[in-house]
Amino acid sequence: MQMSPVRAIGSHKESNPMSLLRRFAMKIFEHDFDAYAFSRQMTYHEPTVRKEFAKAVPLRTVVVYCYDPRAIGIPAAVAREFDEVYPGEIVTDEKGNKSASTTSLFEVIVAGGRAIDALRSITVAQHLFGIENIVIVHHTHCGATSFTADGIINAYRHEHGRDISTLYDRQSISISDYMTSLKHDIGLVRKSDGTPSHVNIYGYVYDIDTEGLTLVVEDSGDRTSARAEIAVEIEDFTKIVTDENFDREVLQSDIPVLVDFWAEWCGPCRIVSPTIDALGVEYQGKVKVAKLNVDDNETAMRYGIRAIPTVALFSGGDIKKTFVGVQSKRQYEESLHALLR
Ligand SMILES: [Zn+2]
Repeated sequence: MQMSPVRAIGSHKESNPMSLLRRFAMKIFEHDFDAYAFSRQMTYHEPTVRKEFAKAVPLRTVVVYCYDPRAIGIPAAVAREFDEVYPGEIVTDEKGNKSASTTSLFEVIVAGGRAIDALRSITVAQHLFGIENIVIVHHTHCGATSFTADGIINAYRHEHGRDISTLYDRQSISISDYMTSLKHDIGLVRKSDGTPSHVNIYGYVYDIDTEGLTLVVEDSGDRTSARAEIAVEIEDFTKIVTDENFDREVLQSDIPVLVDFWAEWCGPCRIVSPTIDALGVEYQGKVKVAKLNVDDNETAMRYGIRAIPTVALFSGGDIKKTFVGVQSKRQYEESLHALLR
């Protein structure tokens, strides 16, 4: 096969200095982005971060609608119908960083407003913010009514040589009639394990010319199952130990115990504390996580602990490893992995 010289150089990435530079730049960026990921922070504690998220947005309603530009009035129409705050205002913290919003409505914008594409977003919205209503809106003159499931499947076969016949449930591909599509979607959302039972689900048709909404299907949530509180208490996983219960909770424990020796006045202890809590959640059932206040208890003296924070890993009644000072979560994890192996 003949290749032009230009093409040949381009195809050999190793010999192209620009691609090497670019790869190098990518590496730096990959590294830097860690600063923006909650889960990459040293003090990351999943339940705490989740609680903060729930407080950041007073979300109540998720609206699923079509990406047709003529359907852009849907979220505002739904906000009026449900008395929601939309688009609300961005709230900034004392440093001027965007940290929250007053909106109570989230949009999930997908082809035809079909629920199939929205299921994961609904699950995540519930997990992070908690929701009360899911509103599925299909609109008049929608492109999703212009083709059939067979039509798109055949076109893909001919134009791309791809078989998409089993990719999606056929009833979710296009819209044959609004009643059928909305009923199907409300059923799909209700059936999803990501939809909590207390959530109300509505199906509306939006008229793109009058901008009016017509309620077609309504499926009220289970009133007896109260909106679950988004809160996992740290105390559920972290055991408070004292001189009195130390033997029982630590030395006689069936599983290894990570003990955080701390005191109120110790600044670095406050940095270590959430890491220890996070390990308690991560290793629940495998490793017990405990905290002992050195001012209130003499046990620390028994083990010759002179500096805090000190975190000691106990197994079978003995100290297997001691960490003095602030450590990264990974350092604790490595020792736990080694011990559990
Ligand atoms: Zn549409």
